[in-house]
Amino acid sequence: MIDVYNPYTLEKIGEIKEYSREEVKEVIEKAEKDKEKMRNLSVSRRYNILLRIANNIKKNKEEFAKLLAIDAGKPIKQARVEVDKAIKTFRLSASYTKELRGEVLGDDEKIIIAKREPYGLVGAITPYNYPLSLSAHKIAPCIAVGNITLHHPSPKAPLACVKLSEIINEAFKKYGFDGYYLLTGYGEVVGDELVVNDKIRAISFTGSSKVGEKIAKKAGLKKIVLELGGVNPNIVLKDANIDLAVKRLVKGSFLYAGQVCISVGVIYVDEEIADKFIEKFVDEAKKLKVGNPLDEDTDVGPVISLEHAKWAEDIINKSIEEGGKLLLGGKRERTIIYPTILEVEPDNILCKTETFAPIVPIVRASEEEILELANSDYGLHAAVFTNNINKAMKFSHNLEYGGVIINNSSLYRNDSMPFGGIKKSGLGREGVKYAIEELSYIKSVIINKS
Ligand code: NAP
Repeated sequence: MIDVYNPYTLEKIGEIKEYSREEVKEVIEKAEKDKEKMRNLSVSRRYNILLRIANNIKKNKEEFAKLLAIDAGKPIKQARVEVDKAIKTFRLSASYTKELRGEVLGDDEKIIIAKREPYGLVGAITPYNYPLSLSAHKIAPCIAVGNITLHHPSPKAPLACVKLSEIINEAFKKYGFDGYYLLTGYGEVVGDELVVNDKIRAISFTGSSKVGEKIAKKAGLKKIVLELGGVNPNIVLKDANIDLAVKRLVKGSFLYAGQVCISVGVIYVDEEIADKFIEKFVDEAKKLKVGNPLDEDTDVGPVISLEHAKWAEDIINKSIEEGGKLLLGGKRERTIIYPTILEVEPDNILCKTETFAPIVPIVRASEEEILELANSDYGLHAAVFTNNINKAMKFSHNLEYGGVIINNSSLYRNDSMPFGGIKKSGLGREGVKYAIEELSYIKSVIINKS
């Protein structure tokens, strides 16, 4: 068994089964035998299963939100938003079961049908930060298209996934087979077996770039979808609405203590408005309430572990050693890192590192310099605040990112939009329709006259 801890109190709050590699192989063998049943489940049955799951998550919304608060350390009001996103993802996926259309092409006397087929068994590997909604983004599209999901959740915050698995397994019960398996344990054992096992035909992974690269090397000829990390540039140009930028960038920097793949990574601000922006940004960040995730008014809770909090404290100190000027925070109490803002030079360590903590570096530069600096080895989201449509177009054209958001922070995500990165931030796209496309293949059926 693996012990599960509350990252705020550091108390043990539960335990999960630790699957061995042999046990994972046995589950894969069992699932393999049922893959035809899953593929042949009618559209209306898949639709009903997805809606039943969505409704049962909704019925248990408060329990899920509390689990996310005590297990992942997510402030309760932000946890409720995550539950709503999971409900929406299952509902959207239900509606897409009815939209799985192929194409018919004519070729003289032949008819060519291009249709979508499920891969069969899909390995889903998820991180700790959005255990419920990111799992939904893999499991629900799999059900919609007719794949069986074998799911490894992060052992750092697994409890919402355990509760979700009960709801999903109940929804499949009347069909006499399991369309979903929860495989708890450690990534290097359970996740690795999913990646290397030949019976798993596709892997959908969300997590760090480091683990994503390992998976890409090991997966061989499987289909892989990788949703990885980022250091997301957020740009404030001199014609921006500064108050709007301040409000949205504070949220984008400190929501869930910065532990979001699309959190604000670096703020680049035009030197002409930098003083005014920085003053307002620091003042707004000072208003955030730091504390127990279960308190209704908490904005910023803990990071996931003591180890990560100490690492975050070290990187703040390194940034200061490199010349970074501390404007707010910089303080750690156990797993809490107080919202931290530094003004830095563009080559500072914080501009190159995904901290996954409530730490934001600000760089002042000219518009031309910003355009040069904002492209990096990562490519998840970028954001630009401007009131000038020509500048919005110029920046969105030149920024090499999976998403460019104008007049909101990089944190923006809508569950139906295509979502994902390029370069070290990943391969492929999620967002229900796009995940369904990634997790299915096209079969061409060519009908000739006899
Ligand atoms: P992580 O350490 O990469 O772990 C992610 C998952 O991979 C966990 O379930 C982990 O299990 C498993 N794993 C570890 N080694 C593995 C291996 N060799 N083979 C297969 N699976 C393995 O990430 P995390 O710390 O949980 O989450 C934070 C990271 O996720 C950040 O970098 C963040 O940017 C990224 N993220 C990206 C997105 C996106 O959509 N682009 C969304 C959310 C988070 P163990 O914990 O047991 O190692």
